[in-house]
Amino acid sequence: TPRVFSGVQPTGNLHLGNYLGAIRKFVALQESHACLYCVVDLHAITAQLVQDDLPGQIRSITAAFLAAGIDPKKHIVFNQSRVSGHAELAWIFNCVARIGWMNRMTQFKEKAGKDRENASLGLLAYPSLMAADILLYRATHVPVGDDQKQHLELTRDIAAKFNFDFAERIEAAGLAVPITAGEESTEGYFPITEPLIEGPATRIMSLKDGAKKMSKSDPSDLSRINLTDDADAIARKIRKAKTDPDALPSELDGLKERPEADNLVGIFAALAERPKADVLAEYGGRQFSEFKPALADLAVGILAPISAEMRRYLADPSHIDAVLKDGAERAGAIADATMKDVKDIVGFLRD
Ligand code: ATP
Ligand code: MG
Repeated sequence: TPRVFSGVQPTGNLHLGNYLGAIRKFVALQESHACLYCVVDLHAITAQLVQDDLPGQIRSITAAFLAAGIDPKKHIVFNQSRVSGHAELAWIFNCVARIGWMNRMTQFKEKAGKDRENASLGLLAYPSLMAADILLYRATHVPVGDDQKQHLELTRDIAAKFNFDFAERIEAAGLAVPITAGEESTEGYFPITEPLIEGPATRIMSLKDGAKKMSKSDPSDLSRINLTDDADAIARKIRKAKTDPDALPSELDGLKERPEADNLVGIFAALAERPKADVLAEYGGRQFSEFKPALADLAVGILAPISAEMRRYLADPSHIDAVLKDGAERAGAIADATMKDVKDIVGFLRD
């Protein structure tokens, strides 16, 4: 059966990129898949060890999940550190993955910056923990933004190497199941996960720099539209967003070499759930001074109800806390079953 896993780090304010690239897709997938949505708090301490109000950040991401329309009864919503299997499986995957694989990860290079020797070992091993998050539930589909594509390829590599290296033991333990990877089908224990990175909003860029993605951890608040920004803040940030002086083009071709214009048109299209070409057919020839207020209205219309719901949930966090506890119990049951199998395959004695 298809199973979805995805996570969001409690590292700051959720923004439009997180919503359009990830959370909105989480909501849609609930109809067709069994889903686990995780607040990945173990990941949150990789770039910065001491986090400001981590409990509050975890609750706030959970509130956003619920406010956006994720149903924690039909699906599973939990925080990662509560299920010990994530860290346990990540350790085994640290021994499956090769140092060279990790060294090639662009997120590591970006987040570590120039002083790479001084980055935490956890930041380097981040993709191995991410593979564990997904494979602990033997998830088959992972909705993410474009920035996580490389990590998902690595997850596939880890699954494939584990299946290959332990092939005889998996077979002997009777744990081999059919695995499909694209066209090919084999047998193994872990599935070869399919990334779900589609649509017009897989990479929303910073409002201040068309070459950088919008990020929670960007120090400039003007670079992103937070889910919790009020109408004034949204309008102001869009008004101040970097653009070039030309009018909007009428054709898609006219967005080439204009990354900031392309980004704003892409955001409009994603919010309105219309093709970019359609947006240009309407706004082509008009100035940003006309387009930006329309974009701000559209964004406010979609984000205001979500942020109102988030505030409602956060006013009394007891419901959020109950959701996370219940989610961790249900996730833990699936995780425990996987860890038993994995320990048998590796050869660890267990109860
Ligand atoms: P951080 O800066 O702490 O890494 P982030 O904004 O990248 O924060 P994550 O928690 O790392 O957020 O990612 C959560 C999900 O949001 C992932 O699926 C990621 O691919 C997606 N995502 C993050 N930024 C964008 C973006 N700018 N456009 C589309 N999707 C995004
Ligand atoms: Mg990120």
